[in-house]
Amino acid sequence: MSDTSRWRGSLCLEVNPLPNTIIIFGASGDLTGRKLLPALFSLFRRGLLHEKSRIVGCARTPMTDDAYRERLRTGWLAELRSPELERFLELVSYVHGDYGDADFYARIGRRLDEVESAAGGGGFTGRIFYLAMPPELYSAVVPQLAAAGLLTESASGLPWRHVVLEKPFGHDLDSARQLDRELHRHLTERQIYRIDHYLGKETVQNLMILRFANTIFEPVWNAGFVDSVEISIAESVGVEHRAGYFDRTGLLRDMFQNHLLELLALVAMEPPAGSDADSIRDEKLKLLRSLRPIPPDAIGRQVVRAQYTAGAVNGIAVPGYREERDVAPGSETETCVAMRLYVDNWRWRGVPFLLRSGKRLAAKSSRIIIRFKPVPHSVFAPLTAADLAPNRLVIDIQPSEGMRLELQAKEPGPKLCMGTLSLDFKYASILDDGQNMPDAYERLLLDCMLGDQTLFIRSDTILRAWELLTPILEAWQRGDPAAGELLFYPAGSPGPVAAERKLGFAP
Ligand code: NDP
Repeated sequence: MSDTSRWRGSLCLEVNPLPNTIIIFGASGDLTGRKLLPALFSLFRRGLLHEKSRIVGCARTPMTDDAYRERLRTGWLAELRSPELERFLELVSYVHGDYGDADFYARIGRRLDEVESAAGGGGFTGRIFYLAMPPELYSAVVPQLAAAGLLTESASGLPWRHVVLEKPFGHDLDSARQLDRELHRHLTERQIYRIDHYLGKETVQNLMILRFANTIFEPVWNAGFVDSVEISIAESVGVEHRAGYFDRTGLLRDMFQNHLLELLALVAMEPPAGSDADSIRDEKLKLLRSLRPIPPDAIGRQVVRAQYTAGAVNGIAVPGYREERDVAPGSETETCVAMRLYVDNWRWRGVPFLLRSGKRLAAKSSRIIIRFKPVPHSVFAPLTAADLAPNRLVIDIQPSEGMRLELQAKEPGPKLCMGTLSLDFKYASILDDGQNMPDAYERLLLDCMLGDQTLFIRSDTILRAWELLTPILEAWQRGDPAAGELLFYPAGSPGPVAAERKLGFAP
């Protein structure tokens, strides 16, 4: 691993998708504009969105096809302007209507038939219905799509109908079960793609390859050699325009139920039987089932929750959480959570898994740190084993994706001195000039077109995550003294570090 390393040949496991249609509900919204359309355009430029494929935006805002294309041309995609943009815009059209009105879905159905037959009909393999809208609307939209016959597949499953859902997947265990029942009334699990965009990031996908396509890590990937595992998602931004949503949700629901527990499962799971979606998702579920639930009387000892107060981020003064627009005065919603968990299985018995995420912290940084045990004995007297820094494998997820392995090594020079040497690899260093890292949504949309659910969350995993987290949320809600109190940290600071150290986080 070094910045100058290059690929020695690549082995590609995937094919390019055939023509399909992507229907985006909430097509006037933030996610569509900032993520989905740029990702689809990028796939188009890479030759991974078939030129016969079509994109149909759907929302309430009245707009003609031309007005919608103009919004893309001069707004969301303006910065990505290139000779291919006009060709891409030809694939896009727009239908507006009311989500509760059956006629809206009938018109969408007619539009889909029209655009597909105008593109040459026959070869279309399927349709993706992407629900980029507030999740409260899922229960209204899915039954309407079903009633209009838009979700029906033939017995062979071709052409397929996939529905993509964005988080949050419920609010607690009961609401997640309820949502699940409603979805399964109209869809099979094979048709449901629950997005966790963290799983589309390069380094996260690389975790599987790092662990299971190399021999050197797996023998030491266990309690015999690993001292602790830390998974952290730190953001310097606050709640931005989503304050209303966040104040009802809180950080535990927003980040742990999906991203952090999914990352933990990928780091700690057993080798899957194969690389197909269910083999991997079976192992992730098994791992989450091995997570020791935190008993109510230990919540205060294993979980820290805090909220940011006014401070400065990168030298710019920012308000405290309670002063943000759309946040209830005196809100008790947590904006930072740290947690110590244990996996009760043969491999990980006794190893702490330290999970942490927060908003308005000093810097944006998401990483996984595998901290290995110290050497058992020092042969370098007078240095003791405790003087030798333990090895660490640091997997950086964002802002720059890469990994580094920290080793003890001799410092150059005539004397015997040692220090920590870092074998550092950054993904950016192996991209060709002008090439960008693909956005996670590119990868996930591509997988959805290819019918690969590996990076999407299965219903049983979500329910297991809620089983683990709901008792914590309920204890906080009750104001249970054993659940600990809400702490505060200034915006732009490293967070509630003293409390986190008590959980076992390294300084
Ligand atoms: P928006 O709040 O921007 O809503 C998307 C669109 O849905 C709006 O343009 C609006 O379109 C329609 N809409 C909004 N509220 C209602 C309502 N009450 N009734 C009917 N239609 C409504 O959401 P985002 O784009 O930010 O997010 C979409 C989904 O993605 C959500 O589930 C969110 O949790 C998730 N998500 C978003 C992220 C982001 O960065 N934005 C990141 C991760 C997940 P119109 O009025 O034209 O119908």
